[in-house]
Amino acid sequence: MSIHVLSADVFNKIAAGEVVDRPYSVVKELVENALDAGATEIGVETEGGGKRLIRVTDNGCGIPKDELRLAYLPHATSKLSRAEDLERIRTLGFRGEAIASIAAVSRMKLTSKTKDGEAYSLRSEGGALGELTRDGGADGTCALVEDLFFNTPARRKFLKSDAQEDADIANMLSRFLLSRPEVSFTYTANGKVKYRSFGDGLRSALAVVYGADVLNKTYEFDAEKNGIRLHGFLGAPEFSKPNRSYQSLFVNGRYVVNQTVSAAVSNAYGAYLMKRQYPFFVLFLEVPPEVVDVNVHPNKADVRFAENQVIYGCVYSVVSAILDGNARALEYLVPAEGKKGEAAPAAAAAPAAPAPAQMSYEQAKKQLSFDVPPLGGRTPVPRPFREERNELEVHAPAAPAPREDVFEENRRFLLERENKARQDKIDADLLVYKGEIFRTYLCYELGDTVYLIDQHAAHERLIYDRLRAKCEARTVCSQPMLVPYLLNVNAQEFAFLEKNLQLLRELGFEAEPFGGNSLKISAVPADLRDIRLEEFFGEVLASMETLRGIRLPDLLKDKLATAACKAAVKGGEALTDGEVRSLIRAMQGDMTLKCPHGRPVAVRIARAEIEKLFKRIV
Ligand code: ADP
Ligand code: MG
Repeated sequence: MSIHVLSADVFNKIAAGEVVDRPYSVVKELVENALDAGATEIGVETEGGGKRLIRVTDNGCGIPKDELRLAYLPHATSKLSRAEDLERIRTLGFRGEAIASIAAVSRMKLTSKTKDGEAYSLRSEGGALGELTRDGGADGTCALVEDLFFNTPARRKFLKSDAQEDADIANMLSRFLLSRPEVSFTYTANGKVKYRSFGDGLRSALAVVYGADVLNKTYEFDAEKNGIRLHGFLGAPEFSKPNRSYQSLFVNGRYVVNQTVSAAVSNAYGAYLMKRQYPFFVLFLEVPPEVVDVNVHPNKADVRFAENQVIYGCVYSVVSAILDGNARALEYLVPAEGKKGEAAPAAAAAPAAPAPAQMSYEQAKKQLSFDVPPLGGRTPVPRPFREERNELEVHAPAAPAPREDVFEENRRFLLERENKARQDKIDADLLVYKGEIFRTYLCYELGDTVYLIDQHAAHERLIYDRLRAKCEARTVCSQPMLVPYLLNVNAQEFAFLEKNLQLLRELGFEAEPFGGNSLKISAVPADLRDIRLEEFFGEVLASMETLRGIRLPDLLKDKLATAACKAAVKGGEALTDGEVRSLIRAMQGDMTLKCPHGRPVAVRIARAEIEKLFKRIV
């Protein structure tokens, strides 16, 4: 066959494979277009898992009548004209490929009305355009996609079941709900409403996606560092998840998956999580557009940063400050009162202006060469950002040098943390009690330092340690139950429990097979008298599937934390002097303790910090 240029028809079908391979990618592209058009209300409807029909309706700016035809052309876009624009992309779309690609593999109809124009429609069948016709309808655009992949049977074969396609669409849409909380979304599948958000802020959107309870299990924060703004929600350590599907990262408003940021967050959580548990997070990273390259792949799921180290350092230090609860965390955390408000709190509103005294991104970048001694005397070669663009591999980090330095930086942080822990171990006898504040924090002075101790967290931690020690030493006392509990399970679950019977006994459960696939539980660990057996075994069995290797004792640890929390004195409860003394003695001067949920027990404030507040020193 002689070499020839492919016809537009064939080329478009090939290109379509890159942009749209599943119904959810069609929905994604159409929703992005609606958002770029400034829509505040977006409706998504699907039938048959999106294979039969997808309809995305928006109230955005619309497409003028004489441009409807252009919208279908490949590389036709209103969002980008000069190559330099690529450096500062603010819209979600910019390639001008989506509509052409979708139209090439479906029966499509675009109906649109601008504010001053009339509504018009234009149909396409497998990319062949029909006639422009007058239509009715409100301001905005409606994109209808029917019979996806009707002309590419091979691709159609790779689609999943309707239910799975629906689930993937819902999952993808949930990211838009979170990244654009000011827009109200409705998603209907086969006539049933699956999601409805109200466009009234991030907290509200979070509640729609994860349930209202999520707000009680996360820290909301907003930090500005080195010209980078990082805000969002971090799950409390006990709200960790068995997989990474509860992690969302948005860079400049765009959902992405990024190694550098994931590693920074995971490392910051490191000590707080059990094995095979992953933190919950919804993070928004705002960086100057010129230091991030979004043009990595047509699916745009990955981004590259010009300097990975700056990003890593910033994310790591903000997240660990919050988890460690050090003085910095107070600056970052969004006050809990915000939770009550209807309106979005500061974090969901427009970006805060950077504090004037802060280091800029450029300064932070320069500082790096002083901060981080290069490994083996090798100086990382700064590479101009532009050079990256033509590289073929999609997931490669920006440059080989920063990759190693990412770990270097991490090691440095860990070392610092360790040093700090050593320095924080104090001689409890030297502490001078200064009274309590808010009936919750015990206040101590030691030399040039003030310690505030959260009485609830401290007590909780002490109970927890005691319970765990017993658990680990296998000296748990069993408490017989008046009425034994009968656990009915299926054969596979029964086999699993039977295999672990000895372990359950050591942990304080009296359990024995009771005919068929049932188990009789006649005693529970004494410290966990209130344990809800149904729930506990439900969790054990749930983890049997997903985390074959999970250790029962780890799961029990979690239960212990809850039990300790219930048993501990609460904030707001007045303690006697004797109680205060025995609490602090039991802590043995360890000011780095965390409560079992990962909150700090003690906060340390240096005299200098207080004097700075009074401008005695600067
Ligand atoms: P891109 O989004 O990369 O520009 P598309 O193929 O998705 O490419 O869309 C082509 C053009 O059609 C857009 O640049 C925009 O001008 C117009 N368009 C598409 N969808 C909409 C919409 N929902 N509202 C307004 N204009 C739209
Ligand atoms: Mg687009």
